[in-house]
Amino acid sequence: MLSDTVVYRVPLTTRFRGLDWRDGVLVRGPAGWAEFSPFWDYDDDAARAWWRAAREWAEGDVPRRRGSVPVNVTVPAVGPEEAHRIVASSGCTTAKVKVAERGQAPEEDVERVAAVRDALGPGGRVRVDANAAWDADTAVARIRALDRAAGGLEYVEQPCREVADLVAVRRRVDVPIAADEAVRLAADPTAAVRAGACDVVVLKVQPLGGVRACLELAERVGVPVVVSSALETSVGLAQGLALAAALPELPYACGLATARLLAEDVVAEPLLPVGGRLAVRRPDPDPARLARAADAAAAAGITERWLARLRAVTKEDS
Ligand SMILES: [Mg+2]
Repeated sequence: MLSDTVVYRVPLTTRFRGLDWRDGVLVRGPAGWAEFSPFWDYDDDAARAWWRAAREWAEGDVPRRRGSVPVNVTVPAVGPEEAHRIVASSGCTTAKVKVAERGQAPEEDVERVAAVRDALGPGGRVRVDANAAWDADTAVARIRALDRAAGGLEYVEQPCREVADLVAVRRRVDVPIAADEAVRLAADPTAAVRAGACDVVVLKVQPLGGVRACLELAERVGVPVVVSSALETSVGLAQGLALAAALPELPYACGLATARLLAEDVVAEPLLPVGGRLAVRRPDPDPARLARAADAAAAAGITERWLARLRAVTKEDS
């Protein structure tokens, strides 16, 4: 089925999710290139959903309802001046700010969020992502402080890990709660919604098994969804973009403008927003950039590990 398989490694501009590099495999099928890039903390079982997504994208395209989608700028756990600069130069009117970074103080989050509000002006939207870092009491206190600093938060993404804690926090704060890890890492991705843990669900096309699986899930959860990336190259981002273009409703800016977090991409024209929107397209890798990213993977000694991972998840394909 696959005519090409290339292991890639590209540097990030800023440490993100504890990473300085992003790596994975790009595969080419009859419909074009697709990305398989489960983070290393996903075991082979969990990585199968990522493979189903890559296979779907290599084999076909999906119908689209719109030609461009609104996106948010993503602000890593940087200082306030840098946060301001990132937002002001983005052209986006919605910002997602990483908070609760390990080793940082709560005031750093407050200063970063205030700087982001300043850069956006009163009409912009600010959301924060805590990546499941807080217990319920801490979450309530931090959300209230960040809501004040932001002059109103659009929502807070995954303040706590456990569904029961999300339910408790949601009862105690007015800021809407979005579930990301509680959906993407759960055996049943609808469980968090049924428990009353969230107002919004984050859909990521690779961990949830592809565009069609996400469209079905969006229909089943019965709450608004927001599409986000898993920090893919522009090859993988195109699939998230296809999901955003195919959803019946798109009430939130998508977290798909993350190509700007990569210092190098594998395509000549990365999927970068213009005026806060991403045009829906599917760029092919540029041969020279792809070769450079493959060399970087080989130099880092990860090529064989990725091919072994790919073999493990493709074993049951016929
Ligand atoms: Mg998240």
